[in-house]
Amino acid sequence: MKLSGRMAQLGTETAFEVLARANALAAQGKSVINLGIGQPDFPTPGHIVEAGRQALADGYHGYTPANGIPELRAAVAADIHRRHGADVDPDHIVCVPGGKVTMAFAMLMFGEAGAEIMYPDPGFPIYRSMIEFSGATAVPIRLHEANGFSFSADEVLAQITGRTRLIILNSPANPTGGVVPRSEIDRLVEGLERHPDVAIMSDEIYSCMTYDGLDHVTLLDYPSIRDRLIVLDGWSKTYAMTGWRLGWGLWPANLAPLAGKLAVNTHSCVNAATQFAGIAALQGLQDAVQEMVAAFDTRRTRMVALLNDMPGVSCVMPKGAFYAFPNITGTGLDSATMQDRLLQETGVAAIAGTSFGRFGEGYLRFSCASSIGNIEEAMARMKAWLLENSGAN
Ligand code: PLP
Repeated sequence: MKLSGRMAQLGTETAFEVLARANALAAQGKSVINLGIGQPDFPTPGHIVEAGRQALADGYHGYTPANGIPELRAAVAADIHRRHGADVDPDHIVCVPGGKVTMAFAMLMFGEAGAEIMYPDPGFPIYRSMIEFSGATAVPIRLHEANGFSFSADEVLAQITGRTRLIILNSPANPTGGVVPRSEIDRLVEGLERHPDVAIMSDEIYSCMTYDGLDHVTLLDYPSIRDRLIVLDGWSKTYAMTGWRLGWGLWPANLAPLAGKLAVNTHSCVNAATQFAGIAALQGLQDAVQEMVAAFDTRRTRMVALLNDMPGVSCVMPKGAFYAFPNITGTGLDSATMQDRLLQETGVAAIAGTSFGRFGEGYLRFSCASSIGNIEEAMARMKAWLLENSGAN
């Protein structure tokens, strides 16, 4: 067997590996608290589940249009209008099995040998993996802890070359919980006006999760780049629907048919019942979303306070998403060692910052998608362990 060279370029998401190790330890009887995996710990709201069940009972068992049933795309367009005040054409929306698929399609459209694609670092690991899989060169955009894990617009603009095809942005962000201030986005967009051939993919999958009264800033607010903007969002995080596999991409007019063609060539369509569940999610009451976000808000505040009370650890307050990304350099331990030893010796599963890129060295990612009780117990175990093992004592 001779595989294509690109298979060697494919990375992965360490969160799934840590989950497997945590489960294996739990199966041996060890008490494990998993703050590793990035998915809401809430069930999908009942009315959404019911809509999916009803669609199956009503006989929706076949293929649908590759880009999604028209009712779903109309519901997405209405939701975009409700949340962002933007008017979009439902024909420019392509519904796919999860946010990751929009990401993969964008890399396949723009990536090839000789091209450069920029991505946030520390950032969602699939960006770099898929960029390299496409054959393109992955160029990291460094995020700065001192600026709440925002990028610097000037640094991004300075990295643009004649080979830059696509810039990936993600706010609110995984793994840092960082939210890029509007002023920095203004500055970036102003600079991008001088680079009309560079496309932008804005991953806004955590757009419903901002805290401290902050409003989400969508790239849809910037008309000057709308003809080269791809927006990625979906249901996984907002409606606790990670296992249903449903996301949407909003594409420029000329790219939407190409995204539809990639769908035909890969998965044909999202499963029909899930699409009906997606409509119910967007059109139904949003109180379950608000309750979940309020719970994440309380938990992140508690977690960050407890992290900041540990020797050698400091943690900036995440302004969005549901992660905390503490700086652990004061402990004298590197990220991978800390991840492994914490899991093995205390049963607390977290993810090494280096899983999210080389600028993640010196950090750990904790998910706040767990009960306050779990968070307090995990933080207590970690503090006790650091008091014994960290170089900060
Ligand atoms: N984008 C970011 C920043 C994420 O953190 C994730 C999931 O963790 C995704 C996209 C993918 O979401 P989905 O499960 O809908 O594919």
